[in-house]
Amino acid sequence: MASRQSSKVPGAAEFVPPTRSLAVLAEAVQGCRGCDLYRNATQAVFGQTGSSAKKPRLMMVGEQPGDREDREGVPFVGPAGRLLDQCLEEAGIDRREVYVTNTVKHFKWEPRGKVRLHKKPSAGEIFACRPWLQAEIEMIEPELLVALGATAAQAILGAQFRVTQSHGEVMRAEGWPPVLATAHPASILRAPRDEDRHRQAAELVQDLRNAKKFLRK
Ligand code: SF4
Repeated sequence: MASRQSSKVPGAAEFVPPTRSLAVLAEAVQGCRGCDLYRNATQAVFGQTGSSAKKPRLMMVGEQPGDREDREGVPFVGPAGRLLDQCLEEAGIDRREVYVTNTVKHFKWEPRGKVRLHKKPSAGEIFACRPWLQAEIEMIEPELLVALGATAAQAILGAQFRVTQSHGEVMRAEGWPPVLATAHPASILRAPRDEDRHRQAAELVQDLRNAKKFLRK
């Protein structure tokens, strides 16, 4: 189970409205000052349900918005999102029936020339942002969470959890829906060699097939 690590930042709890609807939450998150990440981001990027009218059974949780997501205000629209779409299609999962979100709602970055380079959120920032993820889970009531990458997996399953060792397995953590961890598509795209990218993408597809199998039960 994820540790209840104390945080030096105030945290998002006081900004999460008691009236719960995804639209109300998505609006309220723009006013969140639960940690300092809002200062350098264009906007908060909240989760989104696919276009299907069906209630999502699967919630995918990434790390944080990327450069393009930060500008557009939509999760998983950049290159990593395209790879995720391809892998979902190959696994036979309809993206329109999936709710996608991130562990942390504001883009953390550092300048590298003209580029805004992704910077990993700290444990304190992850902890501060957790009330938004919990509010989304309360609204969606997913049957399965898919944690994409170490940040999401460790936020839910604890700092000791290793995606490389336990990806594709359905895990249980107190206070959370069942969760299956797998690689983040952005980390696959960062692999230097083609053969590594292909192998890791194939593993991601296999993990997503496991997720689909779990939902059939
Ligand atoms: S990252 Fe999360 S906790 Fe921090 S300001 Fe943004 S929404 Fe609030």
